[in-house]
Amino acid sequence: MPLSNVVDEEGFLVVHESRSYKSEVFRETLSGILLVERRNLPAQAMLWLVMVLAATRMPNSEFFFLPLMARLFALLHTRFASHRLGMALERGKRIRKQLAYAVFAMLLGGASWGFVLAAVMSDPVLHPARLILGGGTLVGASLITAIVGPAYRLLFAFLAGFVSSTVLGMWLWEASMLLPATFGTLCLSLIFLAFAYALSGQRILTSRTLVENRILSEELADSLAHAEFLAFRDPLTGLMNRRAFFECAGDYDEGQERYLLSLDLDDFKSINDRFGHAVGDKVLVKVGETIKQVQESLPAGDHCAVRLGGEEFVMLLDCSGKGCASAAAERLRCAIEGISDQLRLPGLRTTCSIGLSRWHRDTPIDEVLCNADDALYKAKARGRNRVENTAA
Ligand code: GH3
Ligand code: MG
Ligand code: MG
Repeated sequence: MPLSNVVDEEGFLVVHESRSYKSEVFRETLSGILLVERRNLPAQAMLWLVMVLAATRMPNSEFFFLPLMARLFALLHTRFASHRLGMALERGKRIRKQLAYAVFAMLLGGASWGFVLAAVMSDPVLHPARLILGGGTLVGASLITAIVGPAYRLLFAFLAGFVSSTVLGMWLWEASMLLPATFGTLCLSLIFLAFAYALSGQRILTSRTLVENRILSEELADSLAHAEFLAFRDPLTGLMNRRAFFECAGDYDEGQERYLLSLDLDDFKSINDRFGHAVGDKVLVKVGETIKQVQESLPAGDHCAVRLGGEEFVMLLDCSGKGCASAAAERLRCAIEGISDQLRLPGLRTTCSIGLSRWHRDTPIDEVLCNADDALYKAKARGRNRVENTAA
């Protein structure tokens, strides 16, 4: 079913409910997140450096050593996880393992931010560096939640790591007002979540549009290929159609020797009448295949074959010597006679009559076709299932 026929009221493809469509949108969304993550790296590195400098100015700077090391560790893991996920997405591979690793990296990232925040909260000393550390943590964590927002698994992994490590860190470092601080951290996380939700809508929409555009352009390419096929091919047998044949036959090079072979199935109407149109079609398909096989068995040259219409076919043989063309015609006649054995229908007889005519270079193709047809009628008149030629 053409996808363009199944758009909903908002103009989205109805296939968006199918599993593969959903997974395509998810993969597209992840690609967008990874792009931001890559570009975000210098900012993350700068923030980390500024926080390290600020931490050295804090009276309790030793509290920040481990959290900031954890932060660096998490940054490296996130980069590595993103790289692996990006490669899998680019190669169209399954991403289960890579995604699980990215979820783990996000958990680590959230935890590292949480520990930095816990260190900030552990000593309520008023100090300008504290502002940088606290502010940097909140800005960093909120930006990460906004970036990974459309991928809920990554978002929740990050927030889970953030909240749990903040509370754990504050408890370990015996921060004052643990309960209100825990409540505040939870509220902050909910606010991050709300921001992430607000920002993710547009990005999911963009992913959907990208995927839908891709599906539509693939469909368009298929339709174009099909239209091109129909413009030059007979849809039943796959042989050339009349138009393609005349184009192919157009260039008669000097030094070539050509023959036209005109073929008509014998008593084909009675096959349709006795066995039905479907069997008639099957015979035509088999004849098409047989013609292709004979064509492929010929010495290399500009041969071509066409279904002119109904049960009439023409072959252009680029053969040197009348013997080669006559032998090909005879092979073809025998092979078509053998089709009835392949179809195994009692009483079915598949024979053909063939007319062969040499094509001299300056003779118009219509005239050669007439000559080949004359030979064909001779074959019919002489009892069918035979080859006649006018080859001079
Ligand atoms: P002859 O030996 O004199 O050639 O007799 P014939 O029955 O083969 O020739 P006739 O011209 O009387 O009949 C040709 C038949 O081919 C009539 C038509 O229904 C059938 N035909 C034409 N195109 C198709 C097709 O695409 N599929 C099928 N199944 N039959 C077709
Ligand atoms: Mg006919
Ligand atoms: Mg016929």
